[in-house]
Amino acid sequence: MFNHFFVEMKLMAKDPVCGMEVDEATAKYKTEYMSKTYYFCAKGCLEAFKRDPEKYVSKKHGCCH
Ligand SMILES: [Zn+2]
Repeated sequence: MFNHFFVEMKLMAKDPVCGMEVDEATAKYKTEYMSKTYYFCAKGCLEAFKRDPEKYVSKKHGCCH
């Protein structure tokens, strides 16, 4: 009765550039940055990330100095 919760479990990654969800299993565009893998929905997003990865990765909330 509760099994259907697990059937559709997929590893979805978030495209850090546009925020879209990307299926890790089928993602064509991915790159590694700071030993973490990032997935992208399109080549344009991947290139935007490569151009300026820190813009998309460092989500600091200005708490710490
Ligand atoms: Zn994208």
